Amino acid sequence: MAKLPQLVLKAGKEQSLNRFHPWVFSGAIKKIKGELMEGDFVEVLDSNENFLALGHSIIGSISVRVLSFEQVEMDYDFWRNKIQKAYDLRKAIGLAENEQTNAYRLVHGEGDYLPGLIIDYYNGTVVVQMHTVGMYRIQDVIVDVLKDVLGDKLKSVYAKSEGTLPYKAYVDATNGYIYGDKPEKIALENGLKFHVDWEKGQKTGFFVDQRENRSLIERYSKGRKVLNMFCYTGGFSFYAMRGDAKLVHSVDSSERAIQVTNDNVQLNFPGDERHQAFAEDAFKYLGETKDQYDLIILDPPAFAKHQNVVKNALQGYRRLNAKAMEQIQKGGILFTFSCSQVITKEQFRTMVFSAAARAGRKVRILQQLTQPADHPVDIYHPEGEYLKGLVVYVD
Ligand code: SAH
Repeated sequence: MAKLPQLVLKAGKEQSLNRFHPWVFSGAIKKIKGELMEGDFVEVLDSNENFLALGHSIIGSISVRVLSFEQVEMDYDFWRNKIQKAYDLRKAIGLAENEQTNAYRLVHGEGDYLPGLIIDYYNGTVVVQMHTVGMYRIQDVIVDVLKDVLGDKLKSVYAKSEGTLPYKAYVDATNGYIYGDKPEKIALENGLKFHVDWEKGQKTGFFVDQRENRSLIERYSKGRKVLNMFCYTGGFSFYAMRGDAKLVHSVDSSERAIQVTNDNVQLNFPGDERHQAFAEDAFKYLGETKDQYDLIILDPPAFAKHQNVVKNALQGYRRLNAKAMEQIQKGGILFTFSCSQVITKEQFRTMVFSAAARAGRKVRILQQLTQPADHPVDIYHPEGEYLKGLVVYVD
């Protein structure tokens, strides 16, 4: 094996790696041996220079994302083995090879021991998104592995790392197809059809992480007047319609999201007059809906992307939730979410508590929600549990 650059940690700083936490923070480093550039493979050693881990080097407060706690060769078989395991897990949880659902996350970064790599599968197309330069450099290997693991199931690969690599890394990532033809962009989720626009849409084109929470809406919506706030492609709305909601209003500030939502209505419930979609700001819209709805979904974008804005983000979430709780009918049900990784489950719940108090409503928690099984959380990396949700009953 070619000699890799090495990072030697300060004494005592090996503890989190011994507990399989996959990040090395810059403050833990004593010295660097060899020449180290962003994206290089690097060996991490303890203060006595014993081997701890192998990973990708990054410039920033996290200096290494760990790929292996064993001293192995990072060759084709290494990556193939990891992605095969990720695929086997999706089979084990009933997602790969499912007739009703062909949209799922195949690789979820740290949750699949592949930090920096996100892969979503949409009916034969995989969207590959790199968050580290190291992963971006091995994109071709990843594509070869995907062909190998998915076989005939793989029709196209769309690379989408233009906006996700560190800004100062100066790698010129461009979005585009790197394998296969331009495919049809309709995927199935629990039997519902969705236009998934990985080219122009947010993230990889669709929020697969809400699949099970959307499914839950179907059970709660019979006879209800539903507001799907921050609807994006309208996901929650179609489950509510299938669950016999009386009416469903989808709202998003993006005109494009509203257009996609309306297209998805035509795919699933053509001409159904129970549904209407509005391009409006959430706070403005909620301000004008007194007693109009008895089921409200709040699935906002991440208000906090960094630790230093958590306080402001919590205030934003609180204002939003308080507004929804003020406006919802008596006996209403609120599905409320945060997808900010830096906001903990406890902070989220405390925020909902203070929103309830501010709205002066009696509120009970019915269910506590999180991300689905294709977004696994490495127990040694609790930061991976980014999606938090509560279903509350508002008396
Ligand atoms: N619930 C969706 C995902 C929501 S993503 C699903 O199941 O797929 C968050 C959405 O919030 C984005 O579509 C974004 O356009 C929208 N958004 C962001 N700020 C907003 C605002 N102030 N008012 C309304 N929508 C907003």
